[in-house]
Amino acid sequence: MFSRLPSGSEAERVCPVDFGRGFLAASTKIRADNVLPAVTGRVCPQEHQCEGRCVLGRRGEPVGIGYLERFVSDDERAHGSPAPPPMSPPSGKKVAVVGSGPAGLSTACDLVRRGHDLGVLEALHAIGGVLVYGILEFRLSNGIVLQEVGHLPRMGGQFRIHVGVGKTVTLDDLLNQKGYDPVFVAAGASLPVFLNIPGEYLCGVYSANEFLTRVNLMKAYREDYDEPVFNCRGREVVVIGGGNTAMDAVRTALRLGAAHATIVYRRSEAEMPARVEEIKHAREEGVRLQLLTSPVEFMNDGKGWLSGVRCIRMALGPADDSGRCRPVPVPHSEFILPAQMAVIAVGNRSNPLVQSTTPDLETTP
Ligand SMILES: Cc1cc2nc3c(=O)[nH]c(=O)nc-3n(C[C@H](O)[C@H](O)[C@H](O)COP(=O)(O)OP(=O)(O)OC[C@H]3O[C@@H](n4cnc5c(N)ncnc54)[C@H](O)[C@@H]3O)c2cc1C
Repeated sequence: MFSRLPSGSEAERVCPVDFGRGFLAASTKIRADNVLPAVTGRVCPQEHQCEGRCVLGRRGEPVGIGYLERFVSDDERAHGSPAPPPMSPPSGKKVAVVGSGPAGLSTACDLVRRGHDLGVLEALHAIGGVLVYGILEFRLSNGIVLQEVGHLPRMGGQFRIHVGVGKTVTLDDLLNQKGYDPVFVAAGASLPVFLNIPGEYLCGVYSANEFLTRVNLMKAYREDYDEPVFNCRGREVVVIGGGNTAMDAVRTALRLGAAHATIVYRRSEAEMPARVEEIKHAREEGVRLQLLTSPVEFMNDGKGWLSGVRCIRMALGPADDSGRCRPVPVPHSEFILPAQMAVIAVGNRSNPLVQSTTPDLETTP
């Protein structure tokens, strides 16, 4: 659909479009509202978001917004930079953004366009948040993220890494001493939720955050790097959860050489929060899905290492507050899944660092 017309073709004669310029104009248009089109075009759940709400979808196919974003941003990388967005004159205001994930970067971009003197403060050594340390290379390459993020400093603003707000500098320091007003906190949700079942602290049991950060950002899969990660080559791996993070973890385990990698999820496939596309790709790569199943214990091999996951089968009961059917355990249905490595991917909460060092900061769940 998007291929360039063959030079001198009938179509080109009838419709003499300068595709290079045309697509850059499309890119500029998309960038007016979306600072990361190469990213959103690859990993957003469009089927639930923009495409799910597209009016054309009521009678047929919605506009393929994700593929459009992806295509024009890829074309832009090959053919030149988009026109810089219109900028307001300096506002005289100094504003800070804490965190450089998609929320922080989008906000930073809007603030800089409005002429504010911007400072982005990032705790890690890389800009991009989950885009660089969570989502894996095979779904979203860090090269694409870097290129996308590279547009921002050119627009203005200062980007500082290794600044943990709440540790290196407090929110009060930023407001009272450094002259920032306001400060936008976009610190993400990096605190993993655990299952609180026996054996969770055995060797071989990881949170998805730890596993993916070691592999993705710290390159633990490479032999010439010091960062260790469990050697799951030829082993059984169980990943608990049904979201995108679980899909990333299970596909990573397969790429690291696991003999089998199994998703354990307590509801059915219809309720899985992962993108449909991610579930499809995981299946195609050989991931096993153990649905309507919940872990009840990580089993010890007697030496402090994981040897299996004791599970119980679940059935779907009436809908809960989230509108999804509540899973209920089926009595006397326990069984053991052999596993030498398990990854827990059942959600995250916000990191309490900023709240804990800013006593009067009111927060909501
Ligand atoms: C493995 C994985 C796969 C995912 N896949 C998808 C997907 O396919 N599609 C999708 O739509 N969503 C996906 N998500 C979710 C998506 O990545 C998040 O919704 C998104 O990154 C949230 O953006 P954010 O800017 O709020 O937070 P983050 O991306 O978490 O960024 C927060 C940033 O703040 C920094 N920070 C935290 N505390 C401080 C502090 N005190 N001081 C300074 N800096 C701080 C962090 O280091 C981080 O860089 C996935 C998430 C994960 C973990």
